[in-house]
Amino acid sequence: MAYKITPQMYEKIKHFARFPQTGVSLRQMVMFGQNPSQGTLLKATQFLADELPIRIAHRVKELDNLPHNLSEMPSIVRVKNWYAQSFEELINFPKPELPQSIRERLFATSNPSNPSTTIMSTATKLGHGYYSHVDDIDWPPEVRYYNEKFTKLIEAIKRRHDPVVTTVAQGILEYKQHKKSTMIDTDIQSFLDRFYMSRIGIRILIGQHVALNRLPSRPDYVGIICTKTNIAKTVQEAVDNARFICEEYYGLFRAPEIQLYCPEELSFTYVPTHLNHMLFELLKNSLRALVELFGDDVDEYPTIKVIVAEGKEDITIKILDEGGGIPRSNIPLVWTYMYTTAEAQTLDPNFSQSDFKAPMAGFGYGLPLSRLYARYFGGDLKLISMEGFGTDVYLHLNRISNSDEPLH
Ligand code: ADP
Ligand code: MG
Repeated sequence: MAYKITPQMYEKIKHFARFPQTGVSLRQMVMFGQNPSQGTLLKATQFLADELPIRIAHRVKELDNLPHNLSEMPSIVRVKNWYAQSFEELINFPKPELPQSIRERLFATSNPSNPSTTIMSTATKLGHGYYSHVDDIDWPPEVRYYNEKFTKLIEAIKRRHDPVVTTVAQGILEYKQHKKSTMIDTDIQSFLDRFYMSRIGIRILIGQHVALNRLPSRPDYVGIICTKTNIAKTVQEAVDNARFICEEYYGLFRAPEIQLYCPEELSFTYVPTHLNHMLFELLKNSLRALVELFGDDVDEYPTIKVIVAEGKEDITIKILDEGGGIPRSNIPLVWTYMYTTAEAQTLDPNFSQSDFKAPMAGFGYGLPLSRLYARYFGGDLKLISMEGFGTDVYLHLNRISNSDEPLH
């Protein structure tokens, strides 16, 4: 049976949505996650058990306050129910039953019988080592058991929310049909930016927690973060994937060539899957522009160039193509969700599991979502076009990685 929010649960959600969200920077996650003991993981569990319901409650509230009657569209209601259900599961998750001595060591300042004191103090505690190491003493088996149960719960929640992006996109389509208009209002665009940005944050927190609890730690990795993300290798992987998709899609014998200019050893701390995703989207766009400009039966295309620069603050990856560029008046549109000049792909939330994987083009989510990923860790994505010649895209990645998590 489909989940429905009860009025009581709704009141709780509204209550939690009044608390501020607590940001965690990439650097904090790296410092925290190195060789975690079961006690450290328990602290992280406790932090997430406080923080996730707050973040999720904010999303429900936002879905409720959408402009016009977008919040009533069936797909938006579906998404809202997923959030509410996850909220309910999280706040109903029992606090650990631990010996008193251990409770004291872990949760000295919180009062577990009163959720709001726990929540209120989370932010302060974060600054005072709440999200910090605890010695590797002999943790009782209950601790491991509790950590495991919580990990299972949030893994299931993450899976439930896999189709959120496609389902929200579906909701926007329903709204457009309802309004009989093809325009997307700017307030909807900024809602989507905030909403998807927050989703990235929640998924990183969950992904990181699950990885720390599950994976045997890989060298140079802290959870999902790689402290030596090699740029040249990551670009090369994205190049191979994008060219492969391009050849498949257009039935080409050889996709346009992509030349990489990058110091071989250059590496930094980042989430490799994010970097790969952004590069893949950008390269597909350049490949498509070339094939559509020159056709699919030429011997050779102008080579796409990828130039990597290493600064003190940023690593910048510039992608240059001679695919004809974009008319200047269309530049603001390319950053809007669902703007595409490709033949629209059909949305199938059941098929397209996690975000918009694989297809060459047609969802119009490549650029706006990539920019969110870039901004999430303090970077940015910019595009400059010379209509009649080509496009330059600049992907700025922040090396310092201690920028505050963007929560608003
Ligand atoms: P999609 O690729 O699904 O259309 P994107 O957000 O990746 O969505 O891109 C939106 C639109 O921006 C594309 O449909 C295309 O019209 C334009 N665009 C993006 N990158 C380039 C490029 N390198 N050259 C020309 N046009 C581009
Ligand atoms: Mg694209």
